[in-house]
Amino acid sequence: MKTGKAAVFVKPYEFEITELPTLPIDSDGILVKITSSAICGTDLHYWRGELKPKAPGKPGPIILGHEMTGKIDSLGSNITTDSMGQKLKEGDRVAFPYFFPCRRCYNCMRLEFNNCPNRFRFRGSINELPYCNGGFAEYYYLFPGHFVFKVPDELPEEATTSVNCALSQVIYGLQQGGMKIGDSVVIQGAGGLGINAAAAASEMGAANIIVIDGIENRLELARKCGATHTININEITDKNERIEHVKKITNQRGADVGLEVVGYPGVVAEGISMLRNGGSYVEIGNIWDNSDATIDMSKLVWGMTKLIGIAHYDPYIIPVALDFLVRTQTKFPLTNIISHKFALDEISEAFQQSEWIGKNSTSGLTRAILVP
Ligand SMILES: [Zn+2]
Ligand SMILES: [Zn+2]
Repeated sequence: MKTGKAAVFVKPYEFEITELPTLPIDSDGILVKITSSAICGTDLHYWRGELKPKAPGKPGPIILGHEMTGKIDSLGSNITTDSMGQKLKEGDRVAFPYFFPCRRCYNCMRLEFNNCPNRFRFRGSINELPYCNGGFAEYYYLFPGHFVFKVPDELPEEATTSVNCALSQVIYGLQQGGMKIGDSVVIQGAGGLGINAAAAASEMGAANIIVIDGIENRLELARKCGATHTININEITDKNERIEHVKKITNQRGADVGLEVVGYPGVVAEGISMLRNGGSYVEIGNIWDNSDATIDMSKLVWGMTKLIGIAHYDPYIIPVALDFLVRTQTKFPLTNIISHKFALDEISEAFQQSEWIGKNSTSGLTRAILVP
């Protein structure tokens, strides 16, 4: 039986490196050798203990990590192509969603694959089969019914790590927010999602792209990746002044679309106040149970604001994201989002350096990847 190294999340702030057997390969499954795996904001929420790993009925240590890419180690005997009909062989680089729509439920029947209630049914603990399958490991298994896409040869590794989370997530978010050519977009947060969102909004034809964060080197990268304006919350410390600033940029109207990718409830009311009447607020970042967000509902009513919550994306977005990266390779330095690389054994160090709360410079870190 083949085995691979995995970083198991034991409890907040603690990982254990172990060797685990890989899952047996079904004729419709694919075993992927992970080549890079990023530390996403979601992983930080788990690490701090803000989120309970979702392993219904199977408590126990799990493997975190979902923003990743890899190459095919072993192909199931029935599989000859990717989900777009391109030939696939062992050794090919692939991108894939980290969730598995069941295609046997109400939401799947309505083609809402990202909203399938069973999409994480394979995510258990490492104590029983199927072993928890996560990105901070050498191998990842694509269960039967998966979606998989060949990565174009011209894309460097650093460009593809974030395709299946950050980039696909924000392209889908902007689409669901109804962003149109000439729109003004305000993006709260300039981590991996925010910077990708600036580039995607630019490519989709936004006129004004306003990115808000507290870390200057992230804002600088956002400007290189399509942001037309940035607001550093450590420079404009008053939220009303920030709202006024957005109004000034948008002819006193406010932004057409707001995108929340900070992951803190405190920013929501501010973001909604930055919108024009009839604008859309796309909520992506606040993923854990909390009751700290207070919104004046009358603002939504009188502003006729559309509030759109989004988790995950439709799998067809992945090839869209890959094409976008090929087209804009020389235009946006998106590969620079990956600022730090660590070996799997150095996972604790990687998380400590990725922690941004309470810092105003993350030692120049925008996104760290683990190279198993
Ligand atoms: Zn993520
Ligand atoms: Zn389903």
